[in-house]
Amino acid sequence: MATLESLTWLNRFLDDTPGDSEFGGASRQVPHACWSRVHPSPAPHPELILWSQEMAHMLNLERGQAETLAGGTPVPGMDPYAQRYGGHQFGNWAGQLGDGRAITLGEVETETGVVELQLKGAGKTPYSRFADGKAVLRSSIREFLCSEAMHHLGVPTTRALSLVSTGEQILRDMMYDGNRAYEQGAVVCRVAPSFLRFGSFQIHSSTGDVETLQTLVKHAIQHHFPTHSSDDDDGLVRWLNQIAQDTALMVSHWMRVGFVHGVMNTDNMSLHGLTIDYGPYGWLEDYNPGWTPNTTDNSTRRYRYGQQPQIAAWNLARLLEAMVPLMDEPERLHEVLTAYTDCFDMHHNRMWAEKLGLDTFAKQDEELVRTLNSLLQEVETDMTLFFRLLCSLQSPDISALRFAFYDESTIPEQAWNEWLSSWWTRIAGQPNREVMLQANPKYVLRNWMAQLAIDAAEKGDFSVCESLHELLLNPYDEQPEQEEEWFQKRPEWARHRVGCSMLSCSS
Ligand code: AMP
Ligand code: MG
Repeated sequence: MATLESLTWLNRFLDDTPGDSEFGGASRQVPHACWSRVHPSPAPHPELILWSQEMAHMLNLERGQAETLAGGTPVPGMDPYAQRYGGHQFGNWAGQLGDGRAITLGEVETETGVVELQLKGAGKTPYSRFADGKAVLRSSIREFLCSEAMHHLGVPTTRALSLVSTGEQILRDMMYDGNRAYEQGAVVCRVAPSFLRFGSFQIHSSTGDVETLQTLVKHAIQHHFPTHSSDDDDGLVRWLNQIAQDTALMVSHWMRVGFVHGVMNTDNMSLHGLTIDYGPYGWLEDYNPGWTPNTTDNSTRRYRYGQQPQIAAWNLARLLEAMVPLMDEPERLHEVLTAYTDCFDMHHNRMWAEKLGLDTFAKQDEELVRTLNSLLQEVETDMTLFFRLLCSLQSPDISALRFAFYDESTIPEQAWNEWLSSWWTRIAGQPNREVMLQANPKYVLRNWMAQLAIDAAEKGDFSVCESLHELLLNPYDEQPEQEEEWFQKRPEWARHRVGCSMLSCSS
C-alpha cells in the first residue's frame, strides 16, 4: 500500500490542452483556456471521516493523509487545477461556469487505468464567481454516500475516496430564504476517468474558439475513447454515438432505481455517461413521475423524475450543437439523437422486462407497463418496496404487497388484482425471480436515511454514515438484520422536512 506521494501522477489534461497563464487569482473570465492552475486552501483541523476501502484498494492507497485530502499542500507530482466549462442551466445558456469549488489534484495511473482525483470544497478558484469555493458537511455526506451507493446499485457514477471534515465554519442560506447559519465544512475527494462535461466543449464553441474545441476533442478521444477518432465526420459521429449510448444507459439506470438527479444542467452531464455532481438529488418513494426534490426547480419541475430521459436528449443536442464547427456535414449529427432515442428505448424495455421478470420485452407488454405506471400513481405507493416485494409474490393477490402502500385503507384492490392477474398470465406464474432481484434493489439511499446520517454527523456521531455506507455496499442482498430499520417507507416526520422532501442547490 502506498501513500499519495508514491502514486504515479500524470498531468495529461494540462499537457494536452491550453490553459490560463495566471496561477490562481480572482474570479474572472478565462478565454481560450481549458483550465487554471490553483492552490487548494488548507483546512484548519482536517479529520478523516469516511473512507472508501474499494477506491483506496483500486489506487493501492493506504488510509489517511487527511490534510492533503482536505486541500493542504499538494504532494510532489500533483499539479492542481480547476477546469473551465460552461453550461445551460435550467434551459438557458449561462456562459462560463467552471470548477468553482472543485480542484483536481492530478491523474493517477492504476492497474485498471488512469483516474482523476478531485477535491470538492477545497476553496476558491477563478471560476468561483461570488461564492466561497467551500462545501458543507451535509452535502459532502450526501455526495460520498450516494456516489458509492450508486456504484453498487450498478449505476454508472463518479466515485468517492474520502470525506474529511475541515474544522471550518461556513455560512449558508440553506433554503435561499434569508435564514443564514454557520455549518461545518468538509471536502470529498472524488474519482472518475475524467470530470469532462458536455459544458467543457460548449464553452469553446460558444465563443467561436474552434482551435481549443478541436484540441479538447482530440485529447478526450485519445485518452478516454481510444478506439475512436476525430479525423472526419464519420469518426466524430461514431464517437458522439458512444456518448449518446453511455448517457442513455445511465438515465435508464436512474429510472430503474428511482433516482432523480435534480440539476441536469449541461455542466452536470459527464462525457462518460457517469452520474456526476450530487446536489439536490432524491429517490422516489411515492411513485410520482412529476416529483423533483429540488425546490429551486419548483416552478416548472424541469428535472422531474419522469422527464429525465427527455432532458438527457435535450442536453445531448446542446453537446451536438457544440460540435457543429468540427463537422463538414453537421446535419449528420441528427443521427446521434436518433441513436440516443433508440438506445434509451432498448434499455428501457429491457429494464421493464427485468423489473417484471419477463423473458423478453414484447410489443404487447407496453400495455402492461402503461397500466402498471398509472396504478402506481393512483394512491401513494412506495416504489422500492413495491418492486422488491413483487419479486417474491406467490400468487396474483395484492394483499402480499400491502406494506408498499402508505395508507393501506386506500389500496385500489380490484384494479391491482386485475393487473397482477394479467402479469401472472404473461409470465405463466413463473417470473424470473433471479433477474427481478437484481433489477429491484432492496435498499437505496432514501432521502430521510441520508438525513438521519447527517443529523448524527453534525453532532459528531458518524456511526449512521458508516452503517449506511456498509448497508449500501450490497443493496440487492436481503440483509434481514437491516430490514426493520431500512426496508421501510418514508416516515411521517420526513414528509415535509428540509433535506428529505425539499432540497436546494445550496451546498
Ligand atoms: P452546481 O449547481 O453544483 O453544478 O454548480 C454550478 C456552478 O456553481 C459550478 O460552476 C460550481 O462550481 C459553482 N459553485 C457551486 N457552489 C459553489 C461554491 N460554494 N463556491 C464556488 N462555486 C460554486
Ligand atoms: Mg456542477
